[in-house]
Amino acid sequence: MKKKLVYRFGEGRAEGSAKMKDVLGGKGANLAEMVRIGLPVPPGFTIATAACVYYMRRRRMPPGLKSMVAKGMAFIEGIMGRRFGDPENPLLVSVRSGARASMPGMMDTVLNLGLNDKTVTGLARVTGNRWFALDAYRRFIQLFGDVVLKIPKEEFERRMSAVGDEAELERVIGAFKELVRERTGAEFPVEPERQLWLAIEAVFNSWNNPRAQEYRRLYGIPDSWGTAVNVQAMVFGNLGNDSATGVVFTRDPATGEKKLYGEYLTNAQGEDIVAGIRTPEPIAKLPEEHPRVYRHLVRFLSRLERHYQDMMDVEWTAEKGRLWILQCRSGKRSPLAMVKIAHDMARERLISRQEAVARVEPELVGSLLHKQIAPGAVYEVAATGIAASPGAAMGEVVLDARRAVELAGAGRKVILVRHQTSADDVAGMAKAEGILTAIGGTTSHAAVVARGMGKPAVVGCGALQIDYERQRIKVGRQEIAAGAIVTIDGTTGNVIVGEVPLEEPRLAGEFNTLLGWADRFRRLRVRANADTPKDAQKAREFGAEGIGLCRTEHMFFAPDRVGVMQEMILAPDEAGRKRALDKLLPMQQEDFVQIFRVMDGLPVTIRTLDPPLHEFLPREESRIVELAERLGITVARVKERLQELEEDNPMLGFRGCRLGIVYPEITAMQARAIFSAACVAKKEGIKVLPEVMIPLVSDLAEFVRQRQLVDGVASEVFAEQRVRVGYLVGTMIEVPRAALLADEIARVADFFSYGTNDLTQLTFAFSRDDYGKFFGEYQRLGVMKENPFDTLDTKGVGTLVRMGVQLGRKVNPKLKIGICGEHGGDPATIEFCESVGLDYVSCSPFRIPIARLVAAQAKLGVKGARGRSV
Ligand code: ADP
Ligand code: MG
Ligand code: MG
Repeated sequence: MKKKLVYRFGEGRAEGSAKMKDVLGGKGANLAEMVRIGLPVPPGFTIATAACVYYMRRRRMPPGLKSMVAKGMAFIEGIMGRRFGDPENPLLVSVRSGARASMPGMMDTVLNLGLNDKTVTGLARVTGNRWFALDAYRRFIQLFGDVVLKIPKEEFERRMSAVGDEAELERVIGAFKELVRERTGAEFPVEPERQLWLAIEAVFNSWNNPRAQEYRRLYGIPDSWGTAVNVQAMVFGNLGNDSATGVVFTRDPATGEKKLYGEYLTNAQGEDIVAGIRTPEPIAKLPEEHPRVYRHLVRFLSRLERHYQDMMDVEWTAEKGRLWILQCRSGKRSPLAMVKIAHDMARERLISRQEAVARVEPELVGSLLHKQIAPGAVYEVAATGIAASPGAAMGEVVLDARRAVELAGAGRKVILVRHQTSADDVAGMAKAEGILTAIGGTTSHAAVVARGMGKPAVVGCGALQIDYERQRIKVGRQEIAAGAIVTIDGTTGNVIVGEVPLEEPRLAGEFNTLLGWADRFRRLRVRANADTPKDAQKAREFGAEGIGLCRTEHMFFAPDRVGVMQEMILAPDEAGRKRALDKLLPMQQEDFVQIFRVMDGLPVTIRTLDPPLHEFLPREESRIVELAERLGITVARVKERLQELEEDNPMLGFRGCRLGIVYPEITAMQARAIFSAACVAKKEGIKVLPEVMIPLVSDLAEFVRQRQLVDGVASEVFAEQRVRVGYLVGTMIEVPRAALLADEIARVADFFSYGTNDLTQLTFAFSRDDYGKFFGEYQRLGVMKENPFDTLDTKGVGTLVRMGVQLGRKVNPKLKIGICGEHGGDPATIEFCESVGLDYVSCSPFRIPIARLVAAQAKLGVKGARGRSV
């Protein structure tokens, strides 16, 4: 038996189902599913993706397909009571592309197929509408000519005069046929059977058209999948004023609000909406204009939502008052809507809370931190369009996508301004800050793609005129040249010429609720890397459960302190160093008191001084002279010291715990500041949990020496202050040797914290400061794909982490283990940390919501929720 390549659907029965996207493509699988759940779908059949794959390899149709398609056609004819090619009562079909992943508008579809000079007369007779039949024929030649015969659309448009009556329509049809003859040297194919196979072949070929390829590259869709082809009986939304066609989302894809969202056209065919030929009516008008259709639509949409447990994007057509559903898919939505819908659906008990958490894509949450126009900002609105994708963006006006890619590549911020966008613009849209178009509605290409990308967009801005030739635009009454700055507000639809202050938005209440649910599902704790009381405050607002890394040197770089630090470094002896350190002590202590106050009840990990000392000294001659004068020493002395501190390999040099061992007074001062601050805070009634962390340890002896010093200072301070504070002393694991000897170190350490920046640097022997020189080329050549400084190299560096965890916990089961490198906020790394059983991840405050979410998803076993946006 031949492999099954055709799957029928119609009248309540379907051979396929929603589970068969791989075989039937998304459109075909959902058409079958909708038939199964009893929705009115015009009958048809789907040609499996395998047929396209076969065709692409061998450039011919797979054996047996002919007869399977013939059976499929007979099936449709039986249900419709019409015959394909019958001059009396002809069946018309659409031939629609549809891949496994939705690729809106990327591939081709032909409508009204089966028309010729004879069948058009039959169609006129059975519908009693000759104008309609001729118009359908005209549309068919045009679409078939474009999609199958590859005659540019514009050429048809050029020959399309205004058509007032049927005679004029017939003239246009004649002109179109003439065009086909001129361009192809052959007559327009009149044989319906031949039309069908040419169309099927064209849909197969459209899988490899340049825009589809571009789209696949952008969204990582494999070239090998191929597209399915859906052949389906036509229904007509253009049979009079009791007919209509529309696109509707079951919820607002911009805000997530639970209300129908979309638009429709009375007396029109589906393609008219996408093409933006007439301005559609908002769905809110449908109940007035077509009350019965509206009632049915509402009922079907709610059935769809309940069935799919998701917000759906639906194409519908009403033919003479009778509603048909032509497509449904999970609706693309803005990040804001993604969060709100997941939240609301859990509240409505459509989905579980776990599912709601799993549905939020962490990388898109980042764009929830999209900028907004600062409240209170004063500005003049030049024009208002349709608010299609929320958030505000500012940048220079760029009128074509390629230029947008170029400029953005050079680090410039651009707003892509187009009359309308098409698949060719997608790469430029991806690079732009925001998108502005002159025409198109809320379901236009620009709107759908921008929302998916989480980019601000204003579309259908009628007061926008674009002159591509002269590279100028007119917004309302203002005319500006490309390169001028505009601000767009995708939340309100406003367009402003010039710059407007923007600010980060507050997270929506729903998002916090969702994060609260995530918190209950996760095991991993989430801490923040925060060096100042202000950062600590922000971290707490975002839900940090402690500070995983407080870099004390950042306090020393503050302008009022670096001078004292320099004094310490240039001091001729220990006494001089101590004098300078005594000045730093109260400053550092005050910082800690404030941080402890903010982090009341939560652990705070403070790392002792880490960077090489030369970083604190100036390099320029003038500043060296200034420094010498301020300290009352000679310029020569400063230079001498600079020379002493100079190293060939500072990252492998005199830094980390090596400083605290050679200059114990530095560690002693820092310990004193930490414990004094802890005592002060404790006396205020604050719950303090200090954790002192020793950096760059590679040998047990280093850690032991520093730990003894810290413990000694702690006892001293507690005795002086007559109060004791519980504390931990631990180490960073950032030198491979420390990971290898983790069992030795864990005997005396209370905690480990993986400093994966240095650990990556030292494991790869990639200098973080220099690896850019070759790494781009590495990626280009495919030597390495991921940048190990962005996503933890779980294979190599990860082995050291895993090993350190196992060795460490073996001797010290209570050992607390975390990660505090930049990787702490990276989703894939967080998944890894969950899998090796770390206690916490620590990341920058802004990444905390993402980390909380990913930690929950990792625990729930949601692998790679990322990349689902396609
Ligand atoms: P796309 O994937 O680009 O949306 P579709 O295959 O969905 O392409 O078709 C484009 C338009 O044609 C849609 O608006 C759709 O509703 C309409 N259409 C497709 N098939 C039919 C049909 N059998 N009857 C009526 N309209 C149809
Ligand atoms: Mg469609
Ligand atoms: Mg380090």
